[in-house]
Amino acid sequence: MKYLKISFALVLCILVAASVEAKGKVRVVAHRGYWKTEGSAQNSIRSLELANQIKVYGSEFDVHLTADDIPVIHHDQKIKDVDIQTTPYAQLKDMTLDNGESLPTLEQYLDKFKQLKVKLICELKPHATPERNRKAAQIVIAMINAKKLQKRTDYITFNMDAGKELICLSPKTPVYYLNGDVAPKELKELGYAGLDYHFKAMQKHPEWFKEAKDLKMKVNVWTVDDEKLMEEMIEDGADFITTNEPLTALKVCAAE
Ligand code: MG
Repeated sequence: MKYLKISFALVLCILVAASVEAKGKVRVVAHRGYWKTEGSAQNSIRSLELANQIKVYGSEFDVHLTADDIPVIHHDQKIKDVDIQTTPYAQLKDMTLDNGESLPTLEQYLDKFKQLKVKLICELKPHATPERNRKAAQIVIAMINAKKLQKRTDYITFNMDAGKELICLSPKTPVYYLNGDVAPKELKELGYAGLDYHFKAMQKHPEWFKEAKDLKMKVNVWTVDDEKLMEEMIEDGADFITTNEPLTALKVCAAE
């Protein structure tokens, strides 16, 4: 009887440890850096430093090409009503973010990443034509490879032309698709490493968590800011949580 009790306790410990380990593997990505705090702003260099400081897995950022092919970091295609993709860099460089920083270039961003440990979750924004999408992918890959940051990078994109080019030119760097409308099997066949979908797309297709896992693909969900929703996504099998509330996500992941 005594041995039976010890065995039971042992099995229980192993089960608990396995569960903690499974959930402990969920990684937090700071959406546009860690910006919801004093002195920071979305996609600023400061938001990147702060994401690194709070020790999230990755810091997400958005890249557009200017009219003269300079990759810059900004979420919206417009900065203060000026269209980034049709304006030369010289006319954009002194424009400021909400925290007073100038609009960062990809090169400035990568130089900062080089000093930090946090991973690069690099979103290539859609451009006007398939040619511009491919060109954006070529320029971004060349720069990330030149800085020797490709092993710390995941690429994400809504655009299939950009995705195809990223997969073709940087086959060892994981590429994730963002648009929420393609099943894991089809993405696998196209060469994607995983899906990075809005949480509503995953709630609509909860079977995609298992399908992705069976295909050895990863699932990232965005933008998950609510604690209960974080728990739901982790329970369903998310590998990454992309969030504007990285401190909450770190707490949830640690407690699960
Ligand atoms: Mg983004």
